[in-house]
Amino acid sequence: MDLGSFIVSFDEVKVDVSRFFDLSHVIENGMPVYPGDPEPSVERVASLDEEGVNLTRLVMGSHVGTHIDAPIHFVEGGSSLDEIPLSTLMGEGVVLDLSYREVGTGLSWEDFEKFSSLVKEGDIVLIYTGTSDHWGEEGWDYRRFTYIEDSGAMWLLEKDVKMVGIDCMSVEKFGFSEPVVHRLLLGSGVPLIESLSKVMGELVGNRVFVICLPLKLKGVDGGPARVIACLIEQ
Ligand SMILES: [Zn+2]
Repeated sequence: MDLGSFIVSFDEVKVDVSRFFDLSHVIENGMPVYPGDPEPSVERVASLDEEGVNLTRLVMGSHVGTHIDAPIHFVEGGSSLDEIPLSTLMGEGVVLDLSYREVGTGLSWEDFEKFSSLVKEGDIVLIYTGTSDHWGEEGWDYRRFTYIEDSGAMWLLEKDVKMVGIDCMSVEKFGFSEPVVHRLLLGSGVPLIESLSKVMGELVGNRVFVICLPLKLKGVDGGPARVIACLIEQ
């Protein structure tokens, strides 16, 4: 897609610029992380008082907070974060409400089939499961999140979507033996957005224009992203 055609299609979708939704989590010390992942450290190393400047050292895993999984995360020779084109990271999509399934269960072909008429070829599909409602909750077990089953991934590929987002720390069941869902989607060149925030619950059933901007980290398997959805006039 060249820049010219991109501008034209943005114009055609009639974005309601007064309604932008930030679907990203705040990155801070002590935030929830996928069990076993590095804990982020946000550390002030210089201050206005002492050095005349505020400066911070950031240490974090590549899959901290709201983030992108690049194909190379699980696929040999797959694209890295810096190689995912803007034409994939931005575009029209839809927010699906899968929160009728209990948190912690798997989403199958049948679960997605109900939404068949809402999903268009080339969409960015954002899946709200309600798992994000528990983000930051005292005592919550972060191994418990809704995930996509193999057949659910096949449904998304059958629909020819270009990116898939979910409000869970992973698309894959916790404790998996083989990362089948990651391999299916990333192996087909479909990057993933994981750990979207519960704000997406306000958008269910709507078509949106998604702007997803991860850090441009060279050769890296994923990275934190600011993800914004704009409601599209129906
Ligand atoms: Zn990830």
